[in-house]
Amino acid sequence: MIRIGDILERIELYNPDFDEELIQKAYVFSAKAHQGQLRLSGEPYLIHPLEVAGILANMHLDDQSVASGLLHDTIEDSLVTHKEISRLFGSQVAELVEGVTKISKMSFESSEDTQAENFRKMVLAMTKDIRVILVKLADRLHNMRTLEYHKPEKQQRIASETLDIYAPIANRLGIDWMKSELEDASFKYIMPEAYASLERQISKSEKERSRYIEDVKQLIKKKLAENDIFAEISGRPKHIYSIFRKMQSQNIEFSELYDITAFRIIVNSVTECYEVLGIVHNLWVPIPGKFKDYIALPKANLYQSLHTTVNGPKGERIEIQIRTHEMHQVAEMGIAAHWKYKEAINLDEKDDKRFRWLRQLFEYQNDLRDNSEFLETIKVDLFPDEVFVFTPTGEVKEFPRGSTPIDFAYSIHTEVGNHCKGAKANGKIVPLKYNLHNGDRIVIITHPQAHPSKDWLKTVKSSRARTKIRQWIKTQERGQSIQLGKDLLEKEAKRHPVNFNRLFKDGSLKSVAEIFGLNTADDLLATVGYGKITPRQVIRRILPPEELDAEAHPEEQKPLLKIISKLKGKDSSPILIKGEENVLVRFAKCCNPLPGDKIVGFITRGRGIAIHKADCGTIMNSDPQRLVEAKWKVTDTTRRPVKIQTTSFDRRGILAEITKKLAAEEADILSARVHTTDDKHAVNQFEIAIKDLKHLNRIIRALNHIKGITEVKRIQF
Ligand code: MN
Repeated sequence: MIRIGDILERIELYNPDFDEELIQKAYVFSAKAHQGQLRLSGEPYLIHPLEVAGILANMHLDDQSVASGLLHDTIEDSLVTHKEISRLFGSQVAELVEGVTKISKMSFESSEDTQAENFRKMVLAMTKDIRVILVKLADRLHNMRTLEYHKPEKQQRIASETLDIYAPIANRLGIDWMKSELEDASFKYIMPEAYASLERQISKSEKERSRYIEDVKQLIKKKLAENDIFAEISGRPKHIYSIFRKMQSQNIEFSELYDITAFRIIVNSVTECYEVLGIVHNLWVPIPGKFKDYIALPKANLYQSLHTTVNGPKGERIEIQIRTHEMHQVAEMGIAAHWKYKEAINLDEKDDKRFRWLRQLFEYQNDLRDNSEFLETIKVDLFPDEVFVFTPTGEVKEFPRGSTPIDFAYSIHTEVGNHCKGAKANGKIVPLKYNLHNGDRIVIITHPQAHPSKDWLKTVKSSRARTKIRQWIKTQERGQSIQLGKDLLEKEAKRHPVNFNRLFKDGSLKSVAEIFGLNTADDLLATVGYGKITPRQVIRRILPPEELDAEAHPEEQKPLLKIISKLKGKDSSPILIKGEENVLVRFAKCCNPLPGDKIVGFITRGRGIAIHKADCGTIMNSDPQRLVEAKWKVTDTTRRPVKIQTTSFDRRGILAEITKKLAAEEADILSARVHTTDDKHAVNQFEIAIKDLKHLNRIIRALNHIKGITEVKRIQF
């Protein structure tokens, strides 16, 4: 149980000259007012105001706010009056306490008119003194922490209200930890089963995850230290509600969710933020479209940070946030990080921008007499990362900021999205990549011949639109594969005593599909079209072996081996594909694997098998079903080209020494590029043929021994 002494200690840490007497007095007053009252938990009521004051002290708020936290329920629950508080604690504390009391009496689930009226009161209280809402948030937070003692109906009502109103306000004020805690606490009561199951799954994988987090942290730390950057690095699972929302919006299971861990790197300067970003992107391949620069473009609640998602050490996605200590303070404490309460309500120049939205709220409440209009406007301001637009019938729809008419079209109906050809905003034709603005009235123009294109994926913002477009493209591609599979199978069927058309009617195809672990005949055809099963393999399952043309295909064909055998070339290849020799392969340009590198094969469409490094970023994002096992054939004669770059002082004869060393190390030079810089340096690039990674490392070591060489490294083609 928290004691007044704990609170005093906490305040002293951030504000040594605080008014201890005021807090003590408020404590004694609150204890008297609540004497004999009990909470539903059976504990003395006083615990609640103490906890609320403790939360406010954790937020580093001023004396008056903490005192108000202690006193916040005295007017509501006891016979104390505004006048009395004003006399004992000053008018500001009295105003705060009264403000909180008023908000507490509001209920937000009532009819639209009452709801609007309540919002107006809250806005008034907030604009008069924002501390009112901070005290109210602390009050709500403690109530959410102790909600278990209430009856289920009340739990539901309070939890929904918290999720609808208070969590967004905490977010709007930039108090991230509070937003997360309020969301999780509400979610727990609104959807208890979903919450419990997620919590179970998260804790089940906890041991493994914390080891993983430690590994990633060490890796980052090492890389940063190599660049003389020393940072605070932390990693933790995201909060449960955000995980839940992600699963919902992307329609996926927990096990399919990779980036439930978020890493945070805190550095000393903005320059370092971008340096760290570069280092991280060098270490792991960034996922396109996931980088966000909230430093250059802060969020509406002033949040600043760099966000990126990369393919981590095991190919899994990791979300990384990079920010300075100051930005971190703002992210954690929000509004409270900026506000000097000494100057009380007079906002200085710098704060002006930060509170413009608040002033705006105040003006709305004055100007907008129509309740529903007022409510819509308020919502717009409470959810700054969303835009609200109207359908032709006047219905309001909400989208992530930056959404386009395509997002809108898919929100109306999948078919509208799939045939969306153009759009009008407020009566004027706009391009499909137009960014929706608050209040736009959007009309979608459709055409039966219009279809989604892959480019749409780059512009849409809502996950619904994205999912639907992907689905359409997939279906399209599947359609093509089925047709191709059909053609191939029909051709093969003609070479055997098989009636192709009957295969569909008598269910043979379906039973063959089942043999291969597929569900339908179409699945089978698609797989044949895709090249994973050969037509021959299908026919084999239909005909008895003696009727098969014996010499054409003697050996037992495993899936894939058939295509592989087609790709067999005359040249000896250094790669074994699933143990097969001499398969036609090419080496991917993106990562140029070397003997010794861990590799994997990727079945391209029509261009054989491409060999990538196993950790190549291109592969991570591709269809896993098209990957095949690949190994280096161990021979002594295989040579692979690789490019290296040496940097050296421009000393006479150095080039000769380099080439001599290369020859001594048995590395054939395939090509060379020599380049002298202005500052008397030489940067040379050699393409050399080498045996394997060990060989390369030996060469690099040897070159490093040459006097005047400052750097030797492997570079990409
Ligand atoms: Mn309370």
